[in-house]
Amino acid sequence: MFNNLSDRLESAFKNLKGEARISELNIANTVKDIRRALLDADVNYKIAKEFTDKVKSKATGEKVINAISPGQLMVKIVQDELTELMGGTEASFETNANPTIVLIAGLQGSGKTTFSGKLSNYLKTKKGKRPLLVAADIYRPAAIDQLHVLGEQVGVDVYSERENKDAVAIAKNALAYAKEHAKNVIIIDTAGRLAVDEVMMTEVANIKNAINPNEILFVVDSMTGQDAVNTAKAFNDRLDFSGVVLTKLDGDTRGGAALSIKYTVNKPIKFVSSGEKLDTLDVFYPDRMAQRILGMGDITSLVEKAQEQYDEEKAKKLEKKIRKNQFDFQDFIDQLQQIKRMGNLKDIMGMLPGVGKAMKDVDISDDAFKGVEAMINSMTPFERANPDSITPSRRQRIAKGAGKELSEVNAFMKQFDQMRQMMKMMNKMPMAGMMGGLGG
Ligand code: GDP
Repeated sequence: MFNNLSDRLESAFKNLKGEARISELNIANTVKDIRRALLDADVNYKIAKEFTDKVKSKATGEKVINAISPGQLMVKIVQDELTELMGGTEASFETNANPTIVLIAGLQGSGKTTFSGKLSNYLKTKKGKRPLLVAADIYRPAAIDQLHVLGEQVGVDVYSERENKDAVAIAKNALAYAKEHAKNVIIIDTAGRLAVDEVMMTEVANIKNAINPNEILFVVDSMTGQDAVNTAKAFNDRLDFSGVVLTKLDGDTRGGAALSIKYTVNKPIKFVSSGEKLDTLDVFYPDRMAQRILGMGDITSLVEKAQEQYDEEKAKKLEKKIRKNQFDFQDFIDQLQQIKRMGNLKDIMGMLPGVGKAMKDVDISDDAFKGVEAMINSMTPFERANPDSITPSRRQRIAKGAGKELSEVNAFMKQFDQMRQMMKMMNKMPMAGMMGGLGG
């Protein structure tokens, strides 16, 4: 995410490395590099200029002149300004109204329908709500089908009227349906066009006026940079939306949209969406995003994701098994599955400071563990629970079942054995109590 911008900022800060003091000259050079980095990330010129003017004036402040490490100080100033540019603090998302009505708007292909599915899943699983998805796209029957498929995947009801060509009427009928069926959040996925167009705008504005939504979310593809910002402006002029959703952050996004939207429309980014998995919706935190852009990782989000998967009882059981040197293949695969539930692997690794950058060209797919999983899945429950029972002939069978070479099974067995030896050694150390942390 934003790799090029991260690299460019890092090299801008390098100008200051080894400098004992901040001077007019080295600030000027650094600031120039930062501005170029922002422009290359597709940040609007005016925003980039204002940003760097602020950084410059902060850096030349009296206190700063005496600073010990100008490089670190500059990073801190830029971090604060990036956070501010993206909205400062986390924006709230209204869900208290009963029912809460959420209108989703944006161009076709921006990711509206996928986001609607993700949001319904998020509200259902994380907020304990009873959502209803509403298909208000009267032009593309395929869009209605898509929403039904998503609804089924996340276990959320979908309301649609295939023959009705009046989007306002559909939205109103959906409200009545929601009341009847005790749904407390209504998510209305509207029709999009390939470009901003008057008929589409009028239609969404009419829905807005008819049902008075609690939240109007404008969904935008972050890959489209400055175009995203212009589209946001057009939608905001007509809809006065309450928040922005940035999608496709998993792609090779330069960062322009994330950095410019708040400034341009003065509406907060509320959610970011990366990937097509329906359980990967993230609340947007400007400070954490700024940290990630600066290559500092995002430990807070990583810990939160781990905590969501943390099951205290299971963790205690696992700790006991590790202490008794009974860690087996079933435990191993359970742990793998927990990690995978935290989200997209590359995204998770990117939250570790420095790792995102180091791994930017490495292709880690979510299939990275597939081979190991196949091997474990080819074992019998008895073998999984008793790793030492796996004789050479059993290894043959496991290799065959998993579609692997015997040498691959042998290599995995060896690694697993080394891991167990390591656990054994740690158990003997006085710090063994810390192993409890492994359970997450
Ligand atoms: P809509 O026309 O606005 O409803 O957009 P869709 O939800 O149909 O999404 C358009 C395309 O983008 C589909 O192929 C989605 O699978 C894909 N898509 C949506 N959100 C994301 C995302 O966050 N990351 C990636 N990589 N693809 C996405």
